[in-house]
Amino acid sequence: MRVWTINLYKWKRRLPFMMAFLAAAVVLSVAVIRTGDVTTTAAENAVKQQQAAYYQVKTDEKVVALTFDWSYGTKVAQPVLDILKERNIKCTFFISGPAALKYPEISKRIAEEGHEVASHGHEHVDFNKLPKEKIKENILNAHKNIKEATGKEPNFIRCPNGAWKGGDVLKAANEVGYTVIQWDTDSLDWFKDRTPEQIAQQVLKNVHPGDIILMHASDVTDRTPKALPMVLEGLEKQGYKIVTVSELLKYGPGTTD
Ligand SMILES: [Zn+2]
Repeated sequence: MRVWTINLYKWKRRLPFMMAFLAAAVVLSVAVIRTGDVTTTAAENAVKQQQAAYYQVKTDEKVVALTFDWSYGTKVAQPVLDILKERNIKCTFFISGPAALKYPEISKRIAEEGHEVASHGHEHVDFNKLPKEKIKENILNAHKNIKEATGKEPNFIRCPNGAWKGGDVLKAANEVGYTVIQWDTDSLDWFKDRTPEQIAQQVLKNVHPGDIILMHASDVTDRTPKALPMVLEGLEKQGYKIVTVSELLKYGPGTTD
C-alpha cells in the first residue's frame, strides 16, 4: 500500500513533464510530416531531365503535330490563323517573347482559337552559346510576355534557330519547367526560292507517324499561307490527323530519331 502511494505520488509529480514531452512529440511529428510533405512535393515537381530535344513522337498511328514559329508581323500569321480556323485544326505556335506583346491581337487569337501556346524564346539568339543563367533569363522573359499576351503559361520551347545542342540549353530549359521541342520534317518555307507547291511537297513526301512538322508564321515566310491549304489537304488525303504537340505526346514518348 505504501509502495503504491509512493509510486502514484511519483507519477503525479512526473505528469507535467510527461505532458510537456507529449506536447513536444506532437509538435515534432507535425514538423516531420510537414517537412516530409515539402520533400515529396519537391520530388514530384522536380523536372525530369530531358536527355535530348524531341524531334518526333514514337507511335504507329497516323497522327502528327503541325507547328509554327512566329516571331514577327501579322501578314502571314493572320491568313494562317484564318485557314486553320476555317478547317478547325489546332496547331502549336512557338511565339517569341517580344512578338507576343507587339502583336496582341494575333497572340490573343492563337490562344482563343484553341491553338497550343508555346515559346520561341525572347531574343532570337543561339541559346547554346549563352551561359545557363542567361538562357533561363531569356526563357523566363519570354514566358512573362507570352503569359501577359495570351493568358497561357507555355512549357514547350523551340530554341531560336533550333540551337539546343551543346552548352546548358536542355538543363536550363528543364530547370525552368520547359521541354525543348524540335521538328523532324522541315517544310523549308523559310527558303527564299521555294514555291508554295514545293513547300507542300516537302512536307507531304517526308511526313510519317508521330512527326513534328515545322512551318513559320512570320512575315518573312510569305509563301506559307499559300502552301498551308495544300499541306492540310495532302495530310488529310494520306490519312493523317493533325494535333498539337502536347496531344501528340499522348500517343507515345518524345524521341530524337
Ligand atoms: Zn525562329
